[in-house]
Amino acid sequence: MQSITAYIGLGSNLDDPIKQVRTAFEELDSIELTCLIKHSSLYRSDPVGPSGQPDYINAVAQIKTQLEPIPLLRALQAIEHDHRRVRLERWGPRTLDLDLLVYADQKINEPDLIVPHIMIAERPFVLYPLAEITPDIKIPGLAPMSELLEQSSKQGLSKIFNE
Ligand code: ATP
Ligand code: CA
Ligand code: CA
Repeated sequence: MQSITAYIGLGSNLDDPIKQVRTAFEELDSIELTCLIKHSSLYRSDPVGPSGQPDYINAVAQIKTQLEPIPLLRALQAIEHDHRRVRLERWGPRTLDLDLLVYADQKINEPDLIVPHIMIAERPFVLYPLAEITPDIKIPGLAPMSELLEQSSKQGLSKIFNE
């Protein structure tokens, strides 16, 4: 099978989030039949969901993979598991969250996998790092990136330079 390009959204707000995300880049590269092509800067963002949580660290990675979407999702979940992610409440704090944002130009609608990820356009902490590494991406079913960015506020989001 040929390799396809996919984009993964990374997020963490527990247990040294910067380290969680940096380690996850390496782990993405070690998934079978998969390699990391590049990743965005790290971004700090205000938490979504229950209040009183620590800030999030977010990033986006570009990978090439020969895995089909569901096996790729399972591999992402295995990495989350290795980071001992404990899911106490929806959108609550977590050591590592890996979302499959985009898989080639495919639209996938399965019970446990919807691609492109449904919240991409609504989340500046996904859009800005994605645009940093692939400014001209055309996400299936969504407006061009330039329009998505115009409609998205950068408020609460900052790029990390020296950490
Ligand atoms: P959100 O999806 O709003 O970012 P979340 O990341 O906190 O929320 P999780 O608890 O990590 O949600 O995942 C809930 C379920 O979402 C998973 O069990 C998974 O099967 C499903 N899911 C559907 N589409 C995707 C996708 N594109 N990437 C990752 N998980 C997905
Ligand atoms: Ca998520
Ligand atoms: Ca997730």
